Amino acid sequence: MHIFSELSQLVFPTRCYGCNALGIEICTQCRREWIPHYYKTHITSLNVHSALAYTPMASKIILASKENGLQGADDLLVEAVIHVLNKARLDQGYFTLIPVPSSKQSQRRRGRSFIVDLTKTISQNTGIRLNDCLQVSRRVSDQSGLTRVQRITNMRGAFSLKSGAILRGDAILIDDVVTTGATLEEAARALNSQGFHAFGSVCAVTACVAQPLR
Ligand SMILES: [Zn+2]
Repeated sequence: MHIFSELSQLVFPTRCYGCNALGIEICTQCRREWIPHYYKTHITSLNVHSALAYTPMASKIILASKENGLQGADDLLVEAVIHVLNKARLDQGYFTLIPVPSSKQSQRRRGRSFIVDLTKTISQNTGIRLNDCLQVSRRVSDQSGLTRVQRITNMRGAFSLKSGAILRGDAILIDDVVTTGATLEEAARALNSQGFHAFGSVCAVTACVAQPLR
């Protein structure tokens, strides 16, 4: 076992998720930069609470979790979201955590439903109930390179409620990063289209917040 782990270090040396430096999973310098704060932004009718600015280092940590499924990177994102839930006092009262869904193609490529997985851990650690009630109901284009207006068009009507979904309490949408807010707005629209706003409010918590795009 020992020999195997030394061999695998030769073939697959450990690199920092944040800067790719050889050695440990996250180097001292990146760990120092990855310190959850508390940012609040407002997108149309939605309050969005986030922990960190979306720097190049933060984007690499998100990719390490999202595309490579590295446990240590998952832990950093979970920790950031829980930090914000505490700061925004969203851990008291009657809330449910609703993961922003990813497409079937992404789920197949990654071998898991990324945000759902993270939200499960967040739920286990906070005691806030998970309600995995949203699904992607049509094909959407890759959002990178699109403006806010293009993203809104791209996302319109993309999400729907899973059949048999039951909505209770106030909803906290969970996602890795907010950029223009088009995805979160669509998720809120999908909930409210089923009359959700009549009995609960919707807000969002993301690990990172990017500079707003125009
Ligand atoms: Zn690093």
